[in-house]
Amino acid sequence: MRPRLAALTVAVLVARLALVSASAAPAQGAREALGQDPACQALTPASIGGPLPRDPETVVVRWLGHTNYELVYRGSIFLLDAYYDRVPRNHAIGIVPADVRKATAVFIGHPHFDHMSDAAAVAQQTGAVVIGAAFAGDVLAKGGLAARQFTAVRGGEVLQYPGTTVQAVLGRHNVIATTVPEGFLDRQQAALQAAALQAPYSDAETKQAEAIRARGSRDPAIATTGVINYLFTFGSGFRVLFADSPGPVTAAQRALMETIPGVDVAMLPYVNFEAGIPPLVDLVTTFKPSTVFLGHHDGPGAMLWASNYPAAYAIRRAAPATRTLDVLYRTPVCFNTATRAMAIGRP
Ligand SMILES: [Zn+2]
Repeated sequence: MRPRLAALTVAVLVARLALVSASAAPAQGAREALGQDPACQALTPASIGGPLPRDPETVVVRWLGHTNYELVYRGSIFLLDAYYDRVPRNHAIGIVPADVRKATAVFIGHPHFDHMSDAAAVAQQTGAVVIGAAFAGDVLAKGGLAARQFTAVRGGEVLQYPGTTVQAVLGRHNVIATTVPEGFLDRQQAALQAAALQAPYSDAETKQAEAIRARGSRDPAIATTGVINYLFTFGSGFRVLFADSPGPVTAAQRALMETIPGVDVAMLPYVNFEAGIPPLVDLVTTFKPSTVFLGHHDGPGAMLWASNYPAAYAIRRAAPATRTLDVLYRTPVCFNTATRAMAIGRP
């Protein structure tokens, strides 16, 4: 029963949040063919042994909790961020770091622990190269990763994979704390935690959290020089943009957008509840995505998991052509990079 219920929830949320455009019959046929690919049905990510897409035009996008994603295209498995073993009481994603056996590359959006704590382990298990800002290098070395498996980027680099080009673009860390009254975010967090009836961490939980937090960098310079967005261009021009902190829009992001009209898919972060909506909307109006996935909003329990609805509705008002998806962990969302048809898995 459970998988069926999960699929139904996805369908309902998508129906509720998506801006559905009138679809012609051929588009419907393309969507059906896409949806029949086992890779577009399975809840098992390709990185832990799930099926690869059959059609060379299909890219599979999966949200793996927080701002973790998997992109699969023409035999390449790209992992975006790597924070699977999360601090205590987070919802289980359904995979643990030891499960990850296949990856081509791991792209780190910025080297705070909640974006890279499992990158060293995953890269060692898979042989994947980790790409990220230089701050990540020390953390990965401490985690036992050989230097040759890390590529430092600062924005402006272009990486090539079969059928795929990836551009690194300098972003910015969020400055939401400066846009609300002093101490507001801490008070908000404490109030939500109290409303969630959560007891403080036990000693064992505190230790566990500290060990996870140590697998990231706390360098203050990350705010301005450590946040890297990645623009994937698949096949003849299907664009997927990954950003994992909603900072003020940078000159590099604007310069990128002068070279392209918009992106097909963006994975964007929704943090700090209400206060995080304006910077999120700024990223949407900058990147002009047809489809947005939201991440970073899935805190523990129910009180600390921000509903996507207010953010999605703000996006619709600001960018009526953008569709916001709200999918469950591991649900495959497939896009045909040539026809731009989309199919959401119903395993
Ligand atoms: Zn951060």
